[in-house]
Amino acid sequence: MTPLSAVHPPNPIVSTHILGIDIGGTKLAVGVSTAQGKLLSSERIPTNSSEGPDRVLARLAEVCHRVIDKAGVKVDGAGVGCVGPLDQKTGYVIDPVNLPGWKKVPLVDTLKHHLKMPVFLDNDANAAALGEHRFGAGRGMANMVYLTISTGIGGGIIINHQLYQGENGNAGELGHMSVNFAGRPCGCGNVGCIEAYASGTAIAARTREAVKASGTSDSALLLSIAGTIEQINGQAVVEAVRRGDPLACRVWDETIVALGSCMVSVIHIFNPRRIVLGGGISNAGDLLFVPLRKQTKKHSMPMLHDICDIVPAELGDQVGVLGAVAVGLDGLARANS
Ligand SMILES: [Zn+2]
Repeated sequence: MTPLSAVHPPNPIVSTHILGIDIGGTKLAVGVSTAQGKLLSSERIPTNSSEGPDRVLARLAEVCHRVIDKAGVKVDGAGVGCVGPLDQKTGYVIDPVNLPGWKKVPLVDTLKHHLKMPVFLDNDANAAALGEHRFGAGRGMANMVYLTISTGIGGGIIINHQLYQGENGNAGELGHMSVNFAGRPCGCGNVGCIEAYASGTAIAARTREAVKASGTSDSALLLSIAGTIEQINGQAVVEAVRRGDPLACRVWDETIVALGSCMVSVIHIFNPRRIVLGGGISNAGDLLFVPLRKQTKKHSMPMLHDICDIVPAELGDQVGVLGAVAVGLDGLARANS
């Protein structure tokens, strides 16, 4: 039997150039990149999604042409990372919360019409996982799991160097892994999802609840950072933890336990070589990674745990465009195989 590590990723032609398009609720980012992830040109503009898909996509196409001209190379295809839900096979965007009014938009066909090149689509979390796998903290790892911890929690799973899509393209909803079967309600309709505990939004909500329940005597530092109880957000909590606010530290410790539980499940289910954590909350650095690694080790089977490390993502704010580039490279490799 071939060892899993001997399976290699699809090999792009070295001279391939890809247009990466990142479509978010607030911004559109576009870049032309080499197959090695070197950006030759890039641009960002506000999404203004209320203008409606036709106008936004026409504006996006103009930016794409400008970015291609600036790069001065022949572009072989485009990859798109877009907020979901969407259907990769038909190339339709299906009414995402962050793009109000975008109901059943034929995104791939519209962009093909404007750009006259092959276009490949995936959701933003899968694109980020592919980007980190190809160009970032997961380089060379046959088996890796990516999680982004920001407003929500999303993820992507790489198995044998390939993104695991699942039966209808929706695998990797790691934010909706339940860590408490009788726990907090989640936006997805379930209870106890890790997103309901450890996303930036959930950390802030749990902290506000804790302040209201216990009074402000042990959260003076936190409130001096945030302003009012209502103004407490994820970043304020992280800063308060860094400076030793007792209440913020208690909420943070619980967050680490919840996230650790999620890491343990990921390790036991996927047996990855690496877990890569991105998103705003991962910027907490050692404050997050040191206790999280300890908590994960305590509850994992040694044989699976000892070959897996938990590391920060590397692509920073380029993850959107470079993730989309990785989607394009994968799509072209599939189309040519
Ligand atoms: Zn959920």
